[in-house]
Amino acid sequence: ILINSPDMMAEEAFRLVEQGYSAIKIKISGKVTQDVARVAAVREAAPDIMLFADANSGFTAPDAIAFSRKVERYDLYFLEEPLPLDDIPGYRRLRAATGQRVALGEGEFHSFGIRSFLEEGLIDLVQPNVTRAGGITGCLRIAATAHAFNLPIALHTGAS
Ligand SMILES: [Mg+2]
Repeated sequence: ILINSPDMMAEEAFRLVEQGYSAIKIKISGKVTQDVARVAAVREAAPDIMLFADANSGFTAPDAIAFSRKVERYDLYFLEEPLPLDDIPGYRRLRAATGQRVALGEGEFHSFGIRSFLEEGLIDLVQPNVTRAGGITGCLRIAATAHAFNLPIALHTGAS
């Protein structure tokens, strides 16, 4: 189960830190109050890790903005795919309203599509997924595109 109660997610985070992990990505649901509770619980259980959250396009822009403001104190290093990838106006609103770092590359996986996000300065980290982006060649193209904007990549993986 990837999305769970805050307590269960905190327990798992604690176990992962004990195993030596220094960074954890959690799944969130797109429901502001519940997701803030998840982030808060995991951060409390694992105060020193780098923490990321993947919303799988579950938020609306107003909810992504509300969520981002409420988790500011928990130092969420990036928020992955907060909005549907076609909601470009929403990504613009989120960008204008908060300083939350945004990552994507799972749902928008073509270098040309990613370039559009980069040109508008809407994202901070690109996540090429080898099984979606056209294999290793596609990932290399995305990496070069991100590099041209002086931004990092982190390979995305998952049930894809
Ligand atoms: Mg993802």
